[in-house]
Amino acid sequence: MQIGDLGEQALIKKIVELLGSSYAPGEVGIGDDASLVKPSEGMWLLTTKDLLVEGVHFLLSAGCAADLGYKSLAVNVSDIAAMGGVPRHAYIGLAIPRATTVEFILDFYLGIKEVADKYGMLVSGGDTVASPGPLVISVTVQGEVKRENVLLRSGASPGDILCVTGSLGASAAGLAIILHQLNCPENLRKEAFLFHTRPTPRVAEAAYLAESGGVTAALDISDGLLKDLGEICEASGCGAVIYEDLLPIHRAARTVAALQGISPWQLALNGGEDYELLISVRPSHYDLLAQGYLSRFATDLHSFGKICEESGIWLIKKDGEREKLSFTGFQHFRGG
Ligand SMILES: [Mg+2]
Repeated sequence: MQIGDLGEQALIKKIVELLGSSYAPGEVGIGDDASLVKPSEGMWLLTTKDLLVEGVHFLLSAGCAADLGYKSLAVNVSDIAAMGGVPRHAYIGLAIPRATTVEFILDFYLGIKEVADKYGMLVSGGDTVASPGPLVISVTVQGEVKRENVLLRSGASPGDILCVTGSLGASAAGLAIILHQLNCPENLRKEAFLFHTRPTPRVAEAAYLAESGGVTAALDISDGLLKDLGEICEASGCGAVIYEDLLPIHRAARTVAALQGISPWQLALNGGEDYELLISVRPSHYDLLAQGYLSRFATDLHSFGKICEESGIWLIKKDGEREKLSFTGFQHFRGG
């Protein structure tokens, strides 16, 4: 059945049924004009929103509806984590083409529910309208953080050590495999596809890092390490050095880079949508933080570079050659 045949009220009823205990419209219940929620004692509210347009930010061919729902919420959860916070409430807005099936929308909400349940969040409201054009998804997430634990982009200083919470380039590899139908080993294809369609927001990792006190700046990698590191440098008024041989490049990115005839670091630096945390750490705190992180998460906090005084981002290649990098990844509103 198509959305146009069902009508908005009946669709909302089905969505609420599907969400079950993950749906909670705040104190005053459904039917009032706004959701009313009480933040936990002593916490500050974080709010983030993403707007995703079919054909611009996602392709319906790059995964199923549940994957799309999963990713739409997960990327917002990642932004809350990037500030050191814990996600609490999600608000889902959809502009849906009339020919969309009811099944597609319910599958989309299954992906939303999966993320909400995984991170202990509630879907607390939203809006659904008909779209004369593409499918448009608007997700807002509210989270909470202790004021002293907030992680910003602006605190990095020369000498700080740059780290990421996981390997880079797998999501970009997944997208390249889909778009160019690359002939890649099946296990790598599956792994990269999962990275691309179901990214893992680093919520527990962010809470741990925020509590540590040694993190001077942080963000989540959405547009690619190079552009996002540029954001930290700009906000903090400094530059950065990256060591090629220390970059944690995912094996799927290495395989795809080889198939495309490019250097793996190009995919790792410009690929985007890794949703790992990029942080700068005070050198005096680094050893303790890295050891603590390893014992808590059974995985390395990968250090790959440092903040420097000189502006710009520099790559020190394996042969010792120094190259100034320029950003070539995704930019909104860029012509051509
Ligand atoms: Mg972000």
